[in-house]
Amino acid sequence: DNKKKLNLTTRIVIGMFAGIAVGFLLKLLFPDSILVEGYLTKGLFHVVGQIFISSLQMLVVPLVFVSLVVGTCSISDPSKLGRLGGKAVGLYMVTTAIAITFAIFAAVLIQPGAGVELQSDATFEPSQAPSLAQVIIDLFPTNPFSAMANGNMLQIIVFALLFGISMALVGGKSGDRLKTFFDDFNEIIMKLVIILMNLAPYGVFALMAKLFSETEFETIFSLGKYFLLVFFVLILHGVITYSLILKGLTGLSPWTFLKKMREVQIFGFSTSSSNATIPVTLETVTKRLGVSNSIGSFTVPLGATINMDGTAIMQGVATVFIAQVYLVDLTLADYVMVVLTATLASVGTAGVPGVGLIMLAMVLGQVGLPVEGIGLIIGVDRLLDMTRTSVNVTGDAMVSLIVAKSEGELDEKVFNDAEADLKER
Ligand code: ASP
Repeated sequence: DNKKKLNLTTRIVIGMFAGIAVGFLLKLLFPDSILVEGYLTKGLFHVVGQIFISSLQMLVVPLVFVSLVVGTCSISDPSKLGRLGGKAVGLYMVTTAIAITFAIFAAVLIQPGAGVELQSDATFEPSQAPSLAQVIIDLFPTNPFSAMANGNMLQIIVFALLFGISMALVGGKSGDRLKTFFDDFNEIIMKLVIILMNLAPYGVFALMAKLFSETEFETIFSLGKYFLLVFFVLILHGVITYSLILKGLTGLSPWTFLKKMREVQIFGFSTSSSNATIPVTLETVTKRLGVSNSIGSFTVPLGATINMDGTAIMQGVATVFIAQVYLVDLTLADYVMVVLTATLASVGTAGVPGVGLIMLAMVLGQVGLPVEGIGLIIGVDRLLDMTRTSVNVTGDAMVSLIVAKSEGELDEKVFNDAEADLKER
């Protein structure tokens, strides 16, 4: 029954488009219908969609911890770990800086804010973004269980690394016993990931149907230029920049990469959360793209937390947009500041829905733009959040590939095999 399994991606794509269509139609045919809203939008769609997201999130913490322990204890050489970390963090930052620079250029060229009336009722209450020093201190958990309970990804990563290293150092009987346990645990959680992926067509359908039956498209039209610009820069970056970087640094086929990433991108799109997508990203990166588990289990959760190219693109365009609306001239030094702040801010914030706006508050503050400016774009942020999350997760996978390739930990047979792991599904 190979055929049925081949169709998972297709089924997820169908679920997505069917959800969009049903949402649109409901909104068109039954505007303001209490019944539709009560039973479908806030009823069935909401329940199914929320369960889908929750069950993905349910896997994130155990999966990251267990797979990273398994991955680390097979790297016995600590200097290799340091090198890996350096490469991954470096690449994540550089790709983010490229993304936001590209976005600023595009926005300065297209001028999305020119002629937009400043509505005086724009409001936004910024929540506090953490300082760099605090981000570094916070890497280390005081209590690994509370780190897990709170889903603090960086702390979980640090604890798992230390735990895995110690396990490798102990070795012998006790090390092996625990390694077998973690290996088995990992296999079982990965199975659960596959089961959930098979339910994704319904989950994605529900999320899309809910969203599109609620979206007020008038708001998007009124900010059409900003919306389209962010959207197009995201697509260009996701397709062209990534293809160039991947081809240039690894020689791997961007086409194969993007094709195999489709599911991950749809998960990112429908959940708006790089974090919730981790299980699917990790599955794809290790089983379909051929990255070894010891690399992928480290780079994927790390990327979901610190790498946000799509978010950086929104911030670049938004900063220029807000400056134009408020008639503020930004200098070259300001732009450099925007690139630096946005790149660093992405390190300290988790990949969850809407976090990009909190980071934007930090960026605006750095260059002296009014933070209330965020109120101007918040209305169209939902759809852009979804799109940029797709770009974020694509970037995570691409960097994982580059690091794996440079470490000789990429199985190119798997990468080039169109059918890789499909039987497992
Ligand atoms: N939702 C995005 C993510 O999870 C972050 C953001 O741009 O708000 O990657």
